[in-house]
Amino acid sequence: MASMIIDINQLSDDPEDLDLTLDPAWFARELDGVHHAEGEGQGEAKLQVSKLGGKVQVTGHLSAHFPVSCGRCLEMAEVTVDEPFVMFFEQAADRRVVQDLELTAEDLHWRTFEGVEIDLSPILREQLLLAVPMTPLCRPDCEGLTGHLERPDPDDDDSVERVEVDGKLIDPRWNALAKLKTTR
Ligand SMILES: [Zn+2]
Repeated sequence: MASMIIDINQLSDDPEDLDLTLDPAWFARELDGVHHAEGEGQGEAKLQVSKLGGKVQVTGHLSAHFPVSCGRCLEMAEVTVDEPFVMFFEQAADRRVVQDLELTAEDLHWRTFEGVEIDLSPILREQLLLAVPMTPLCRPDCEGLTGHLERPDPDDDDSVERVEVDGKLIDPRWNALAKLKTTR
């Protein structure tokens, strides 16, 4: 895998191609907690890196597919990303003073970096996370957990007889405790 770290001192004035492969190990590491543990991820970023004065522009295309958990049944759901990638970087010390707090569309494409290195890994991670829907689905008509297993309603459970204590119906397994309380 080509390095995801851009060393700005190594950049010439000509745009450079940077082809990155996102392999299953990368997905497992970067999307820990989001990534479906049983599934792999694959992707690539075909990028062009240009130095513009002290700033660095990274443009290109990001495509990937990776598994997450279905929001209804927790089975595997696939997320597909296929979109342009545009990001500008400037050194933290050069960051413009933001006059108002409202973020413009342009701000979303600006990042700062410290020192002489830009690590693309967290940026790519962020782009992939943005592509994950609020409720990912394993299939459009997923019926959720009820479609996979019958969950008994505890109120319909006849094996446990309710007893009345202090005017309240309670589970008899609490009865001994309730008696202790009421006879004190
Ligand atoms: Zn599902």
